Amino acid sequence: MKPPFHALGMAQEQIAELETQLLKRKLRMTESPCDTEAIVENRKLHAFCSNDYLGLANHPELIAALAEGANQYGVGSGASHLISGHHITHDLLEKKLASFQSEHIPNARALFFSTGYLANLAAITGLVKLAKPEEASIYSAELNHASIIDGVRLASTQSKASVILFDHQQLDTLQKALKHDKRPLKLIVTDGVFSMDGDITPVKALVAIAEQYDALLLVDDAHGFGVLGEQGHGILEQFNIVSERIIYIGTLGKAAGVSGAFVCAQAPFIDWLIQKGRPYIYSTATPPAIAHALLKSLSIIESNEGKSRRRQLNQLITYWQNEMHFSDWKKMSSCTPIQPVILGSNANALAAAKLLDEMGYWIPAIRPPTVPAGSARLRITFSANHSLEDLQKLIWVLQKIEQQVQVGQLS
Ligand SMILES: *Cc1c(COP(=O)(O)O)cnc(C)c1O
Repeated sequence: MKPPFHALGMAQEQIAELETQLLKRKLRMTESPCDTEAIVENRKLHAFCSNDYLGLANHPELIAALAEGANQYGVGSGASHLISGHHITHDLLEKKLASFQSEHIPNARALFFSTGYLANLAAITGLVKLAKPEEASIYSAELNHASIIDGVRLASTQSKASVILFDHQQLDTLQKALKHDKRPLKLIVTDGVFSMDGDITPVKALVAIAEQYDALLLVDDAHGFGVLGEQGHGILEQFNIVSERIIYIGTLGKAAGVSGAFVCAQAPFIDWLIQKGRPYIYSTATPPAIAHALLKSLSIIESNEGKSRRRQLNQLITYWQNEMHFSDWKKMSSCTPIQPVILGSNANALAAAKLLDEMGYWIPAIRPPTVPAGSARLRITFSANHSLEDLQKLIWVLQKIEQQVQVGQLS
């Protein structure tokens, strides 16, 4: 007789449990490039779900740049950066990324990562290692992205850093805790734009607090880079921030349309992450062709074309904020391309997403643990490739569907 296989039974039971709680996540497969129309399981859908805010993911010049990069440099980097994978295009990209923040962070240097998830893990665990064990505190905004949460957890295990959560809309608790904090290294961590609510962190106030209490301020601008600021340089440009205490993280798979991420900070911090950032050290370098394509993306972001794409995005945002009226569902006052609609229960959010799908719209239902329990929502995102007419049709469809899914009726 075969011995029992407990793990498999556990997996089946756990999945069934998620299914009954309406929390099982399912993959959907798309066969088309990322754009405002998507082919999903042989059906054409209007997509309002990607983070490709500037509409660059399928841009002909970027496609050409990636192909050119592959022709010139091949497809793989072959090794991690510290072994032999660090290519001249990585270096050019890092210099360009640093130049985007150089008016905001003195002596800025940038370090390129394959993903934002890894950049957050490396930056948070690495910076905390500047202090001896038990000598660092991390102050993390409650609604921060999962990759920050995981970075903080890892840092608290590895370095016995203390962890204090704070409400980014109410900074008193943060200030009070910092006032009594005797640990030599203090790191405040926040999303720049909160990824599920679309609101912007009070970066000016946080910089002032960081200066007052001798803390570092890590801002994860995954949804602001390319979108915020006259030149698309991100949240620091938008709010005219200048501070030597900022650790800026941007990601390159969202508005920049390709993939990857970077940390930008004063040179000694970057040098330190190269020494001690394990997720940087022990991961194969991104293919140089990707860095080559990203250089093209950065030049579009800064150009007049980038500006007109941001203008289009802002027109869509303003139109939505002025014209979208719900009776029961709740829209949020977001001035970014992330425009959530709160429905509350998982059942309602799923029902709405399903009705949207039937009407030809791809908008996902976001449920816990990605968002707090009881705040399941539709996460609507705009791209500069959406026209005003696309948005007007969406508003019409949402109003129809709201009548069919009344809040509370299904939960
Ligand atoms: C998407 C996202 C990340 C992760 O970036 P990837 O490059 O997709 O790994 C990190 N932080 C925030 C706030 C994000 O929204």
